[in-house]
Amino acid sequence: MIQRYMDLEARFRVQPGHLKLADHEPRDIAGLDKDASEERRAKDLARLDALQERLYAEGRRSLLVIFQAMDAAGKDGTIEHVMSGLNPQGVRVTSFKQPTRTELAHDWLWRCQLALPARGEIGIFNRSHYEEVIVVRVHPEYLGGQEADWEERFDAITGWERHLHASGTRVVKFFLNISEQEQRERFLARAEEADKNWKFSAGDVVERERWDEYQHAFEQAIRATSTKHAPWYVIPADHKWLMRTAVASILVHHLEAMDPRFPEPSDEERAAIAEAVARLRDE
Ligand code: ATP
Ligand code: MG
Repeated sequence: MIQRYMDLEARFRVQPGHLKLADHEPRDIAGLDKDASEERRAKDLARLDALQERLYAEGRRSLLVIFQAMDAAGKDGTIEHVMSGLNPQGVRVTSFKQPTRTELAHDWLWRCQLALPARGEIGIFNRSHYEEVIVVRVHPEYLGGQEADWEERFDAITGWERHLHASGTRVVKFFLNISEQEQRERFLARAEEADKNWKFSAGDVVERERWDEYQHAFEQAIRATSTKHAPWYVIPADHKWLMRTAVASILVHHLEAMDPRFPEPSDEERAAIAEAVARLRDE
């Protein structure tokens, strides 16, 4: 069973310490075609639903899924897709925007800590603590005069994620890797089509001018923080169908590896249930 999911997981996983984004092709389709990919995804979404139910029932561990990307890579759509296979009761999605005054009054991991999934839950971060080593690196003015040592921030992140792993939270991180050309197409579509207009902001085009700086910041951050226990995946994002299939399949892989179990009632609980059933029958 696991084998079927293995290839996309292994193909897109970033080995600790190794990453050259230039070697990752945003148009890669991993040998799949759209129809086969959609069939596979439908099965994976059904599998996700079943695994989530067990995770929730077990109530001991959590899954934290992180999405990072350049604008228009499709974070929102991918999250919507994955969510369509989950019970909303057991999921928390958090979108991280520019920090508020309250958030800025705390250390930079604080707001992420508050948004972590509880035991039994799946947490989805739409942007995350990684903004603190990406957008802030491209825009040092956001530091408000604080010093930033990027290596130290990477250590803080890997340390935090190691602690989460040891405490029962599996951390899985996706970089949705869109090409510069495809981003341009999507921006133009957003500007031109009435129902996509709300997604377009002129500021996005200003950020786009710093493409290489962002790619550098992503590369450094992902290389330094892809670990055995909290791996990064670089997902080709120019074809949305491939991206969504890859994400669904990697999530199934991780939940299968966690192998959550429905709790087994103890002997006393079994006896209490038997007694309750007997009472109901006698009513
Ligand atoms: P959309 O797809 O709707 O545009 P989005 O995630 O881009 O979604 P926006 O409100 O457009 O949402 O952008 C959020 C902005 O907040 C991004 O530009 C992001 O880089 C910025 N941001 C997030 N976290 C931080 C942070 N810690 N410091 C500074 N800026 C941040
Ligand atoms: Mg945006």
